[in-house]
Amino acid sequence: MKILQNIQLLPYNSFRTKAVAKLFAAPETTAELSDILNSYNDNEILIIGKGNDLFFTKDFEGLVIKPEIKGIRVLNETTDHVDIEAGAAEDWDEFVQFCVEKGFSGIENLSLIPGTVGASPVQNIGAYGAEVGNVISVVHTLDKETGAPKIFNNAECGFGYRNSVFKRTCKYVITSVVFRLEKSFKYIEKYADLNHELQNNPTPDLDQVREAVIRIRQRKLPDTATLPNAGSFFKNPVLSEDEKLALLRILPEAPMFVVGDQKYKTSAAYLIDKAGLKGKREGMVGIFEGHSLVIVNYGTENGLDIVRFMNGVQKSVYDLFGVRLEPEVWIY
Ligand SMILES: Cc1cc2nc3c(=O)[nH]c(=O)nc-3n(C[C@H](O)[C@H](O)[C@H](O)COP(=O)(O)OP(=O)(O)OC[C@H]3O[C@@H](n4cnc5c(N)ncnc54)[C@H](O)[C@@H]3O)c2cc1C
Repeated sequence: MKILQNIQLLPYNSFRTKAVAKLFAAPETTAELSDILNSYNDNEILIIGKGNDLFFTKDFEGLVIKPEIKGIRVLNETTDHVDIEAGAAEDWDEFVQFCVEKGFSGIENLSLIPGTVGASPVQNIGAYGAEVGNVISVVHTLDKETGAPKIFNNAECGFGYRNSVFKRTCKYVITSVVFRLEKSFKYIEKYADLNHELQNNPTPDLDQVREAVIRIRQRKLPDTATLPNAGSFFKNPVLSEDEKLALLRILPEAPMFVVGDQKYKTSAAYLIDKAGLKGKREGMVGIFEGHSLVIVNYGTENGLDIVRFMNGVQKSVYDLFGVRLEPEVWIY
């Protein structure tokens, strides 16, 4: 297996920041990946997909692995559902399109999320009322330190809001994911924006739902090809009862969703809006005019500029509302 040296990572992150990886590998099979993990375990190892949820602030002194394991296959099919496995390197949206064309439902609301199948369980990607963790049955992985295989069933994945065991531990390389999708489809209203987009079509088919999601996303989100970004930069904060009451004293209209026993999720975008930061720009970094949760890069190749801007946003929101925004994006 070829291990490359001194590889520029700018093309491998959607924020387009510069950093050099000391070592770089793109294994195409599980066996190759396992060999590399085994042979290079005295190096720091970073796994990347398409780099839509991460950026770099400095050179990486270890081994960057970009799995190139591909393939889609139906494992099992009944009259009701299908178990379908996709390799980690499959493009996420192409996989969604493939499933929608076959009439398999369950991931259509996650259309156009940029990235790979392998990254999808890591932060339990979600959009328009759907989360991928609800349709994942099995995740195949290799242990990052030993290269040994380990299979996770759904419960073992520990899915939560933008979270999973893979994100919490960073111990496993995902090689493929098995999804259980339904063969029948009935649109269920779950999310206001999507319902609104479909208001003239109360009984959309799968393809129409996918198209509606794509239309909304193309209107709302900047294209990484022209305006580098990593989607939602911050997680929606989860507050305790006391924190909720304190915020509502300052911002009585702040959105609050119950997410657990005395736990409430509020909207990071709302707080950024209320702090007057929408559209704010400092140097080559700013908040996208059309969406307060998206930080965009207007031309820097230095990830530290993005970190400085992030710190400023966090400080403003904390000083005004006492809420600490945590990045959803990985910063290396
Ligand atoms: C414009 C835009 C819109 C977005 N919208 C959404 C959205 O609506 N909902 C949402 O949830 N996310 C969204 N995102 C974030 C991003 O698309 C997802 O997190 C996606 O899953 C990232 O895939 P990737 O292949 O680019 O992962 P990367 O950015 O390469 O990696 C992300 C993380 O996963 C790990 N990882 C990647 N591959 C593997 C693997 N095979 N095994 C183990 N770990 C791995 C990496 O180490 C890293 O920690 C958006 C991003 C952009 C740029």
